[in-house]
Amino acid sequence: MALMRAVSFSAFGGPDVLHVVEVEQPQPGAHDVLVRIQAAGICHHDVLSRAGRIPGRPGRILGHEIAGEIAAVGTSVPAERIGENVAIYHRLFCSTCRYCLRGRHDLCRNSRTIGEAGGGGYAEFICVPARNAIPIPEGIDMAAAALTVCPIGTSVRALIGVAAVQPGDIVLITGAGGGLGLHQIAVAKSMQARVIAVTSSPHKTGIIRQAGADDVIVSPDLKFSTEVWRLTEKQGVDIVLENVATGSLSESLRSAASHAMVVVLGNIGAQPVEVDPGLVIMRRIRIAGSGIATFADVRTALHFLAGKAVQPFIDRILPFAQAAQGHALMEKRAVSGRVVLQGW
Ligand SMILES: [Zn+2]
Ligand SMILES: [Zn+2]
Repeated sequence: MALMRAVSFSAFGGPDVLHVVEVEQPQPGAHDVLVRIQAAGICHHDVLSRAGRIPGRPGRILGHEIAGEIAAVGTSVPAERIGENVAIYHRLFCSTCRYCLRGRHDLCRNSRTIGEAGGGGYAEFICVPARNAIPIPEGIDMAAAALTVCPIGTSVRALIGVAAVQPGDIVLITGAGGGLGLHQIAVAKSMQARVIAVTSSPHKTGIIRQAGADDVIVSPDLKFSTEVWRLTEKQGVDIVLENVATGSLSESLRSAASHAMVVVLGNIGAQPVEVDPGLVIMRRIRIAGSGIATFADVRTALHFLAGKAVQPFIDRILPFAQAAQGHALMEKRAVSGRVVLQGW
């Protein structure tokens, strides 16, 4: 039986619980492909999983932002797919429930997410159903391809899928300096929107402007609505992408124009927040949750990447064996954009 290297953790804890282990290399079932992983992004989600702050057990292999090359296929998958470069759609869905039948595989109730159960991306190989391995166009490098579904597809879902952004819309993005926020700015600019970015970290203004934000509000206390009101000449914003929520959602609602869409994607403090129903009614504000990309969003994300309309924000590339260092940097908020694992 063949062995492979992977990064795992035997107990919840700080970044140093992550270590390289040897595990059995997975074997593709009839409808699966075996992917040799070339790059894996470190998502904030992975950091929370490792710390035991979201459901799941220790001992698994984290990581859901994955790109690689098909190394072998199951008996029901055409052998021509061997050698294909792919990005992995990380929700393993049933394809027969009412959500899957509507093309909303992201909502499948009979599903699990790669990295939350079973093998994830911090490994040499992964097996996934062939339909989850999405071919990537030429000209997209592997580190960028790893970020196709999350965070770029996630940004496409929120802005285009949920908020239906239009050219000229004003989009407010909280937590704008994070890995998700920077990609949201890039997607919003590719759709010709005006972006007002909020960050609590003054040292992130440079990268936020580089991502294309038109205005940056540095607001350590998250009291930003007065400044939004001033910047929009008392009009408010059409769309909010709320990556923080705790301590900021009430300010986001105050920043909203009439009929605005407030999309909630992040839940940093995981605490209940106050909502003023009078304000929501008076301004006809729509509040919506958003999460992982649909296949259609992934297609859009690949289009943006291939045409360079959206450039991935990669702070640094580390070898897989240094995943712990990547987690530590993320926790210290010492990165601007994603840390991507490549090579061992
Ligand atoms: Zn992710
Ligand atoms: Zn389903």
